[in-house]
Order: sequence, then C-alpha cells, then structure tokens
Amino acid sequence: MKPFSIAIHGGAGTLLKGMMTPEKELAYKNALQIALDKGYNVLEDKGTAIEAVAQAVMALEDSPLFNAGKGSVFTAEGGHEMDAAIMDGKTLNAGAVSLISGIKNPVSLARDVMENSEHVFLAGAGAMQFAKELNYTLEDDRYFYDELRHQQWLEIKDTDAFQLDHSLKKDSKFGTVGAVACDIHGDVAAATSTGGMTNKRYGRVGDSPMIGVGNYANNSTCAVSCTGSGEYFIRGVVAYDAACLIEHKSMSLEEACNEVIHKRLLQIGGDGGLIAVDAKANIAMPFNTEGMYRALKTSSGTEQISIYG
Ligand code: ASP
Repeated sequence: MKPFSIAIHGGAGTLLKGMMTPEKELAYKNALQIALDKGYNVLEDKGTAIEAVAQAVMALEDSPLFNAGKGSVFTAEGGHEMDAAIMDGKTLNAGAVSLISGIKNPVSLARDVMENSEHVFLAGAGAMQFAKELNYTLEDDRYFYDELRHQQWLEIKDTDAFQLDHSLKKDSKFGTVGAVACDIHGDVAAATSTGGMTNKRYGRVGDSPMIGVGNYANNSTCAVSCTGSGEYFIRGVVAYDAACLIEHKSMSLEEACNEVIHKRLLQIGGDGGLIAVDAKANIAMPFNTEGMYRALKTSSGTEQISIYG
C-alpha cells in the first residue's frame, strides 16, 4: 500500500502566545484532533483524498472556534458571508462558492458545484439559488452567532476598518480552515473554507475560494490550502505558485512552500501560511505569523497537533 497522509489548519491568526490559556489551548487542540481523525479515518478505510478533506473541513466548520461555517466572522451589515473551495488533484475538477449565507457547511456546497454542476465557481445569489435547488436547509443567524466574534465586530462596526484575524492586536484567535490529503492511490486533494474578514463590505472576496490562490490540487505537483492576508495571497497567486516551483524549478514540496511563504509572500507584504501535501504523502506547513493552528497524521505513524512555531 502506498503511504497516505492528511494535514489540516484552523488559520494562521492564532491567539497571541501571552493570551493563550491551558483551557483554550486544549479546546483548540481537541477541535483539531476531531477534524484530523475524521479525515484520517477516511484515508485509513481506503477512501479518497477528496472525501477526507471534505470530512475534515466540515468538522472544522462545525466548530465555533474557527472562522468558517459556524464560527464565521461578521460582515459590515452584521451578517455572515462565507467562501469555500475544493479541488481534486487526480482530475483537476474543482468547485467553489463565495458570498453565501445560511449554509452550515460551505465546503459541501463547493463540492456540489464540482460534482453536480457544469461550473467551477458560483457566487452570491446564484450560489444560493443552486443550494436551494439541491434542497439545502438554511440555518438562521442564531446558528452562526458567536459572542466573542460579535464583540470584535461591534468594536469596528460603523467604521471603515475591516479586520483580518491575523492583524488583530488582541484576540486574534479566529481563522480560516483547510485540509489537504494524499490517499492510498497517490491522489491528492485540497479544501478551504472561511468567513473572510470582520466588517468586510462591497462583496469582498478573499483568496480562500479562488482556485490556484487559496486552494489548489494537482497530483503531479501538490495540494495546497492557504490562510492569511487574502489580498496578498491573491496578488501572489500563492497556491499555484508553490505548485509551479515544484513543476518548473524541480523544488521539493518543502522548498517550494518555504520559498512562497517565507520569501515571495513576505516580499509583497503578506502574512499567513499554508498546508501542502504531495502524491508521495509528504507534508509541508510553513507560516510567517506567530502561529498557525495545524495538525497532521501520516500512515507512517507521525501525528502532530501544534499552534505556535
Ligand atoms: N485568507 C482569508 C481571507 O482573506 C482569511 C484567513 O485566512 O483567515 O479571507
């Protein structure tokens, strides 16, 4: 049997070290463990990488600790607009949704776009119409309400400020979520889901749902899920850039991901990190922030759940 592996992240905007308590750390690690196990179990049962990343991301979306699904941040209007993407590295099939509301698991809708539509990327009212046609139930605002996140929003509401989890001075605990996996066939996949930025306006869309930017998968190079200052990740076409360095410069997964996060992204002023896996089940998880909620598990017996560098 070929080696298999999974890596997940819960965002590069972690609580500053000084603010982390043992209780909070435990809560984050438990949530990461649940998602990691969900994905890993799929791979262990000989399931596909695409199923593994979907399961892991759904578990992270169901946790209020992360800025995706249930824990999504507030928009300027006091609502939630979520983005998600999923990509299959074997077929290069991909699905993405943006500016959606009321959907419990945005990554499922992205997967439906990939599997049950002729399109790759649906946004806003159209994406919601698609969900309706597939009989998705809509959760009301109470499902997405989180006290702390609401407080964050109240502090900057009615101002022009918008806030990335990563740029918070105080409690920067929220984060985009993602998963990458390599299954027993050597097929890779990536999924990413986010509520975006607190107080965002104008239909702002970040990197997370953009194929090749916040999310990408290709068996011949790697599968990548990003987290960080979306505007910079978009300019740097980060996920595809990592794949290109492997393809055109023959870099290893580790070298390519380090080059992108520690050099290229920094040069243009971006902060954040990514998780990546290749078809040999190698994993890289570089970040240039203080921490990144992250975890990995491989068929060779390595398991790791970490928050800081
Ligand atoms: N990259 C996400 C965005 O810009 C934010 C994050 O990673 O937390 O929407």
